[in-house]
Amino acid sequence: MPQFKTTFSFVSRYLKVVIVVFTLLIALSLAWNISNTRQETTRLAELEANTNLNKDRAFRLWATRHGGAYFKVDKDTQPSIFLSHISDRDVKTDSGKVLTLYNPATMLRDIMHDYSKLYGVKTRITAELYLNPENAPDVWEAQALKKLKAGAKTVKEITSINGKPYLRVMHPMPMEQGCLKCHAWTKIPVGGLHGATDVAIDLDKYTSIANDRILKLILTHSIIWLIGIGITLFLGRRLRDKDAILQTNKTQLSILSEALEQSGNGVMITDAEGIIQYINKAFEKINGFKSAELIGMTPRKMKSHLNPISLYENMWSTISKGETWRGEFKNRKKNGTVYWCYETISPIVDEEGKVTHYVGIVEDIEARKIAETHIKQLAKFDTLTNLPNRNFFHEKLNVQLLEAAEQTKLFSLIYIDLDRFKMVNDSLGHSVGDILLSMLSERLMDIKEKNLFISRLGGDEFSIITPLSDSITSIEDDIRTIQQCINEPFFILENDIFMTASIGIAVYPKDGTDAETLIKSADMAMYGAKIHGKNKHLFFEPIHGDFASETMLIENGLRKAIANDELFLVYQPKWDTHSNQFLGLEVLVRWQSPTLGFMNPGRFISIAEETDLIIVLGEWILRQALIKMVDISHVIGFVPKISVNVSPIQFRHDGFNTMVKQALDETNFPPQMLELEITEGALVHDPDMAIDKMNRLCKYGVTFSIDDFGTGYSSMSYLKKFPVSTLKIDKSFVDDIIDDPHDRAIIQAIITLADSFEINTIAEGAETQEQVAILQTLGCYAIQGYWHSRPLEYPALLDYFKN
Ligand code: C2E
Ligand code: MG
Ligand code: MG
Repeated sequence: MPQFKTTFSFVSRYLKVVIVVFTLLIALSLAWNISNTRQETTRLAELEANTNLNKDRAFRLWATRHGGAYFKVDKDTQPSIFLSHISDRDVKTDSGKVLTLYNPATMLRDIMHDYSKLYGVKTRITAELYLNPENAPDVWEAQALKKLKAGAKTVKEITSINGKPYLRVMHPMPMEQGCLKCHAWTKIPVGGLHGATDVAIDLDKYTSIANDRILKLILTHSIIWLIGIGITLFLGRRLRDKDAILQTNKTQLSILSEALEQSGNGVMITDAEGIIQYINKAFEKINGFKSAELIGMTPRKMKSHLNPISLYENMWSTISKGETWRGEFKNRKKNGTVYWCYETISPIVDEEGKVTHYVGIVEDIEARKIAETHIKQLAKFDTLTNLPNRNFFHEKLNVQLLEAAEQTKLFSLIYIDLDRFKMVNDSLGHSVGDILLSMLSERLMDIKEKNLFISRLGGDEFSIITPLSDSITSIEDDIRTIQQCINEPFFILENDIFMTASIGIAVYPKDGTDAETLIKSADMAMYGAKIHGKNKHLFFEPIHGDFASETMLIENGLRKAIANDELFLVYQPKWDTHSNQFLGLEVLVRWQSPTLGFMNPGRFISIAEETDLIIVLGEWILRQALIKMVDISHVIGFVPKISVNVSPIQFRHDGFNTMVKQALDETNFPPQMLELEITEGALVHDPDMAIDKMNRLCKYGVTFSIDDFGTGYSSMSYLKKFPVSTLKIDKSFVDDIIDDPHDRAIIQAIITLADSFEINTIAEGAETQEQVAILQTLGCYAIQGYWHSRPLEYPALLDYFKN
């Protein structure tokens, strides 16, 4: 915060200057007032002096004009020896009384004598030539007389008399005609300087008045100074506090604006009217517009006109309520290209709750959208044959059912299962089996004019949905064409391979009005064809329900399997090929049925799901796995991380979370070491419920992975919402990773996307070193597959850990 310090010291310095200037002003005012007071008191003293002297002069002139005054001689009034040279000094009245002459000087001296005693004002007459030694000038008077003689009109000075300050003022006394009677002997002509009157004013009383006033001045000035300094300091402090806040805000603002500038996401700020006020660098980069080209404009400049109006309506209604809106937009760049972006628009409101600005955070999700569409597209098609896969088949069937119901039309659902395909695989190898399936698919797709919807349901199972029609008479033709496609030999690796198929046909609406029933009917009919010696087609008849007896046998057997201890678990290790480290185990269930023989889960899990047996089965599998892993931890010294498959039906069940927590608590298995594998199907049904359930288990420590990723809905926007820590890339992509660049691209896309969401990836079904090497180049090191280990029974697992 260097800037902060600078301003802080600036304010301090500014304050000091204000204080110094104010103090100087107060000091100057005080000095000026004191000096004024002093001058004033001196002037008052002068006034007193002059008043006294003027009275003297007036009296003297009066007395002189009248030639002095005669007084009766008595004890107090004696003839003046200094007037003895005057012939008529003493006169006798007719009544015999003796009167003596008092000239003005004598009278004045006497009066002044009394005046001095009475009032402390010493007024005197003095002259250089005198008869009465009392009139002799003192040192100051002698000098003052000289100054008057030299032409001064008056002499005044503050001097000290007996250690006390006095103002002394002297006025000249010119010779008057009347004076000559007594003072002719001085030979001073009329108008010449005869002498002087002077007065000494005791300054003590003036000084004390002045000191009083000065004291008051000091007091008032001190108070004003203190108030002034107080106000300055108070205002200074507030200024400093304000400045500190301002500076902190400034610093924070500069950090924030720097963060905005450097942000990887585009940021746009508009005012309440939607006029662009600011865009950051990332925004310029995303759109290609420079800041100067957008500021002052509205975001319409980037509009692609490809978004539904409802999107804008929804956005405005959300943000005008003061809430944040999030959504995906198609925008147009400066160069005209359209791109996808994810926008978060938040209104900024002032203290009164009025919207002042909108802040938009823009994320370019073009790459993600492309990959998502890509994966979505791929998720609909079978990678081996490029035919629509099971998902797409279900989608199409549902649409077809709606349309058929609307238009009251018919259509057929055809199920095809190749006979003895397993034998081709086992004898000629999987690659030959794959080629055969691809060739057959091409032949089927060539039946273009029929407008059939052909899909591969998995393995050697295909299905066909015929177009809507008014009758099913043409179906036999279609079947014949299909059978020809199958029966024509497949020439592969110098071999002619002959194939047949069992075909089951269900007709809408006769054999079912919903997808499930119709599929079941077609499946049963196909089963019937198989049981009746294969290489034939059968239209569904209710009797075919019996052919589903295997399903019923499985279902019935499964009900007893747990109690009879026929189920057991195997464990397949997961491995990090980069660090050569064990990552964990996937728990897989097996069934050794005394009547039906050994069965892989592929055969019975779906039946368990259909009958809700999966709830009991799933709980048994989880508990059994936890117990076994706690057991093994005592032997190997640690608890291995395990992942347990959870069927969507099991996951959606109300008591699922409680069941998991109870199983963990009762077995003392650490929740952090448990991962639940769910498929995308478990999430799409009710995403909010799924998120809530997952979050609650995550809080408990359990983690989630998405199994068979890439084959389901593969919606990235979904993925972002779920607390998922791992994506399991489906085996079908890994199978063809060597030959099929398409599959490699999908794996690459999945890894990149997962990385961007900070989700781990693991590849399933890696069987060869070559596949592992390619996975590594694509950045996928976690693998699960036969290359590292097959699923192991408990004793084999112990050996695995021992080695
Ligand atoms: P999944 O969860 O994707 O499990 C992986 C399947 O791939 C397992 O088949 C495993 O044996 C197989 N596999 C692993 N590596 C390779 C390989 O390199 N090559 C080949 N060809 N196959 C490999 P499995 O055990 O037959 O299980 C099939 C599916 O059945 C599982 O797929 C899972 O969806 C379901 N399943 C298995 N056990 C359970 C369970 O306990 N509960 C539930 N709900 N479903 C289960
Ligand atoms: Mg799994
Ligand atoms: Mg899987």
